[in-house]
This record gives sequence, structure tokens and C-alpha cells, in this order.
Amino acid sequence: MKQSHYFLKTSKTVSADDVSINAKLLEQGGFVQKVMAGVYSYLPLGNRVLKKIESIVREEMDAIGGQEVFMPTLQPKENWQKTGRWESLDVLFQVKSRHGNEYALGPTHEEIVTPMAQAIISSYKDLPIAVYQIQTKFRDEARAKSGLLRGREFRMKDLYSYHATPDDLENYYNNIAAPAYAKVFKRLGLDALYTEASGGSFAKFSHEFQVEIENGEDTIYICEKCKLAKNKEIFEDGAECTNCGKTTWREAKASEVGNIFKLQDKYSSAFNLQFTEADGSKKTVVMGCYGIGTSRLMGVIVEKFNDEKGIIWPAAVAPFAVHLIALKGAEEQAEKLYVNLLEQGVEVLYDDRDLSAGAKFADSDLIGIPLRMIVSPKTLEKNSVELKKRTEKDFKLVEISKVLEVVK
Ligand SMILES: [Zn+2]
Repeated sequence: MKQSHYFLKTSKTVSADDVSINAKLLEQGGFVQKVMAGVYSYLPLGNRVLKKIESIVREEMDAIGGQEVFMPTLQPKENWQKTGRWESLDVLFQVKSRHGNEYALGPTHEEIVTPMAQAIISSYKDLPIAVYQIQTKFRDEARAKSGLLRGREFRMKDLYSYHATPDDLENYYNNIAAPAYAKVFKRLGLDALYTEASGGSFAKFSHEFQVEIENGEDTIYICEKCKLAKNKEIFEDGAECTNCGKTTWREAKASEVGNIFKLQDKYSSAFNLQFTEADGSKKTVVMGCYGIGTSRLMGVIVEKFNDEKGIIWPAAVAPFAVHLIALKGAEEQAEKLYVNLLEQGVEVLYDDRDLSAGAKFADSDLIGIPLRMIVSPKTLEKNSVELKKRTEKDFKLVEISKVLEVVK
């Protein structure tokens, strides 16, 4: 992609009410544009990152047999009344139409996914089974803040599993879903802590995946020995670690990037989702739900990986692999190299703009592509280009004929 024609403008300023690092760097870097509090447009650069995060999530959900569906955002009020959440869920966006009808904008999809399964699940032979989607969700937050960390409109992956017994749910939750989550966060370059949180009215605990960041909205306590964490909401002084029995904890600020719940029969009872056992008796399906905030992840990654100059994207989610920068007098060679890289399938952003080296480098630092490649008359004298990793200070000179090898 040539930067001269890219839908991208970096900026020195940022919306006055945004003080969080992710909002500042993502807006300045031209990844997102704020439309109103808690609502963002994703510009091409930001959209590429979001898509990469979601691809990794999708791959890992497919790998555990999740089947992708796509459910509506606009949902019938009656379904929410059936579960009691039309009244009880304080962040539910309630929409009144001109024709006098009322709808919910989905913050989560139990009210859709549960009745949806009635047409599919009838026998014990149909279980277990799991579906997921990657969707835009809504929460009517009183105060939307912290950039992509807490939005009124945001992206999320939600998976729902259906089981014949609580034991089968337990097994899936511990041995399939939780390890898949750990894989997702590891691939994204994040150290996500498995964190016990309130299980609500139907389970002892739910679990969150929390990433330690300075501006995290949650307080967690991390076991000094085994790194199991507890959310402050359930933490008691002197508590024993459920995993290793130790009682020494470290307090930390963190941001939740995923959560998993055993719903048991809470929603399946409300919608009368049943199946027939081998002996012919009717039983209620048992369910679990598993969420990952994909747009929030983008914010958390930026909070975690940055310096005073800008973002430092982990390679797995970087918008491009290479930032090719042509300095004055080297445009022709740079163009050739650009075409060459594209032919080899390298994702490259090519800064072909008529700007000073300083301006190009500042933008490049801000945008944070992992590898920078500079072509100048000086490097061309040596038949070379300069390569620099975003994480490193120093350049190294590499012969043009060997560049592809090094990049790969
Ligand atoms: Zn422990």
C-alpha cells in the first residue's frame, strides 16, 4: 500500500476528553477516529489490526470445533423479558421504534442463541455442540472512557456451548475452552492471567482473563507462587489460593480481555431448551458462554506495547510487516523494491510521500510497524537498504539482494 494514497492522516492532537494511552496513540496514528464517547470508526490501518486479532480468535475457536454463526444485533424485547434481563440489566440499550415497538441492542446473545438451538438440539446425540460469532455489541455505559477499553459499541467474540450434563460442561470449560483462550492470548503476545471472579447466582466462580496494565479498570490479586489471580470483587484478605494453597498475593491493575461462565440451565430453563435422553426422558440442556473482547484487545495491546514515540505492535497483529520508506532521490529504487516485496507476499506500507525524513520517521514510530526499511541515495551507494526493528534503536545495512531473505 502506498502511503500517498492511503486513507490515513496522523495527527498531533487528540480528542480533549481522551487521556488513555490507547485512545491517544490509536487516534494520533490514524487507526481509529472517535465518533462520540465510546464509539469509534476503524480506519484502514485500525481495521487491519482488528481483522488480524479476530482471525487469530476465529482460528482457535474453529480448532476446538466451534461453528461460526452470525446473530442479529437488533433483538426482540420479548426474549429479554423471558429471562428478566429487560428490567435487570442496567447496561442494556433499549430502542423504541417510530412504530411503537421496542427492541434491545445486544450486549450479549444468550437471548438469541438459546432459542436458536431449539430447532437443532432434540436428542442427547446432538450434544455437546458449540457455536460462536464475532459481532458488534452494545452497552449503555453511563461513562464510556479509556478509548477502546470501555466502549458503548464494540466488537466481541462470543461462543456458547450446549451440554447434556453439568459434568460435561465442567470438562469443556476447564479442558477445552480455557486452554483455547490461553492460546489466543499467547499468540497475541499477551500474558493473560486466569482470574477467579464472581460466578453470579449459578456457579461458585466465573473466570476472567486479565492483562496487567497501569490503566486497567479492574483490581486483581495475583498469587505470588502460581500466578492464579482473583478479582477484587471476590477477594478476601488472607485467602488461600485455590490452585496452590499459598496466601501471599500481589495487588495489580488489569484489564479483562476475556471471560468464561458456566451458565448451567439459567437460559435453557427460561426458553425451555430440552433434549431427549437415551431412556426417553426429557432433560434441560446445560450451557456455557465464553467471551473475548476483540476491539478491547486492540486497546490493551497498545496500552501494553508502546514507548514515548508511539505504538510497538506485536508481529501477529501489526497492520503491515514492513514499513518501506523512500528518502529523496531514492524513489525509483524504492518503488522497485516495493513491487518486489508485494510479489513475494510481504505486507508492506510504502511511504512514497514527498516529506522530510524526520516527518516520515516520526510517523513510522507512531504507527509502530515491526520492521522499517529505508532506501536513500546513501544506502543505494552500497547497493543496500537500512533495516530497523521498531523494538531496537540501531539500523543495520543489508544488501538489496538479501533483503527478502532477511524479511522472511
Ligand atoms: Zn497459587
